[in-house]
Amino acid sequence: MAQIQPFVEWMAGFKKRIDANAAELTDLDRQIGDADHGSNMARGTQAISEIDPDSIKDAGAYLKKAGMSLVSKVGGASGPLYGTLLMKMGAALPEGDLTREGFVAALRTGVEALQARGRSEVGDKTMLDVWFPALEAAEATEGSLPEALQAALTVARDSAEATIPMVARKGRASYLGERSKGVKDPGSASSVLLIEAAAEAFGD
Ligand code: ADP
Ligand code: MG
Repeated sequence: MAQIQPFVEWMAGFKKRIDANAAELTDLDRQIGDADHGSNMARGTQAISEIDPDSIKDAGAYLKKAGMSLVSKVGGASGPLYGTLLMKMGAALPEGDLTREGFVAALRTGVEALQARGRSEVGDKTMLDVWFPALEAAEATEGSLPEALQAALTVARDSAEATIPMVARKGRASYLGERSKGVKDPGSASSVLLIEAAAEAFGD
């Protein structure tokens, strides 16, 4: 059974980073959306922090519950998208000790479900522009889970910056057309925080 504790630490680290960066996330969303991404994610991560891990049987069930909290508590597009990522990752997490292969394979299931839910492609200037390259970097690393997550984090940071010149083709920012250029995608910025928190929680 994968231990719940590092997954609880992962979500706690995500909440800490969201709280520290909520104003910046909202400011990005103010420029190309509706100025609520920071508060949406703060509400969602607060709901996750209220889950009692002692009431849950394993790490997969914990991630599923975390994802359901996001779907039910976050009004914006990001809630169902992050919620799908965590629910499907949780459902795909293998039983037994946590391994790099098991974690990364479950993450792929989650990212593909996010893509299906949002009907987005890489290059649409959404959080998917961080998740696919980061996932591929983790898959390409032969080493341990901490090494895979470090590789994913490096690529995630670059990928979030790379959304700046893109024209949005999905979500609210797409209403701006060409005027969505020049601002980092808010969901890509928050996705880096989730990957950063994973690198910390599952680090050596
Ligand atoms: P809303 O857009 O409903 O106000 P948020 O502001 O919380 O919700 O989240 C916006 C983020 O959601 C965007 O920056 C983008 O990364 C992500 N997003 C929006 N639509 C999609 C989609 N169809 N596929 C993937 N990600 C999306
Ligand atoms: Mg918004």
